[in-house]
Amino acid sequence: MSQTSVNLSRRQLFTRREIPDWPALPWLKEAQFTDLCTQCGECVKHCPTQIIRPADGGFPRVDFQQGECTFCYQCAEVCPEPLFLPKTEPAWQAKAVIDATCLAEQNVDCRSCGDSCEPFAIRFKLAVGRVAEPQIDISSCTGCGACVSICPTSAITINKRHLGSEHVTA
Ligand code: SF4
Ligand code: SF4
Ligand code: SF4
Repeated sequence: MSQTSVNLSRRQLFTRREIPDWPALPWLKEAQFTDLCTQCGECVKHCPTQIIRPADGGFPRVDFQQGECTFCYQCAEVCPEPLFLPKTEPAWQAKAVIDATCLAEQNVDCRSCGDSCEPFAIRFKLAVGRVAEPQIDISSCTGCGACVSICPTSAITINKRHLGSEHVTA
């Protein structure tokens, strides 16, 4: 099982924030999204954790600052358009990414994200003379977003281009 250490330079951090790259909705056929979505708002109304909000141009999008995705498939079931993959497919490939605003970078101890992660995908690497640093195990991370709103410095994002990205170093 590979572990992924995340350490960003400030430049990399700002670059990523200028181009948000979080997923829109789980199981979404992204290529057809803007053509087929009528912005009816059914998914917004039926998400039990209320994380779907109208975003750019009125299109729905998950907002992990509101909570986590439980992968209940409700948004897909209520959508009247053929916009979603079957539930048997992976919901998405997105994973959590931790940036340089993590308190561990300032040698401040914090384990909030680890406590919020049900699949235990956040491990803390011990280092001599420093506080433990969180690392995402991408093979365990589901991209649920439970760790996002809990972070006191907003250091965590759910990124669908986590693999091969300059933001993640193996
Ligand atoms: S799968 Fe469920 S919790 Fe996740 S966005 Fe859709 S309705 Fe909300
Ligand atoms: S919750 Fe945020 S600040 Fe705390 S360890 Fe996790 S990423 Fe770092
Ligand atoms: S997105 Fe979910 S599974 Fe991944 S690290 Fe955060 S809480 Fe854990």
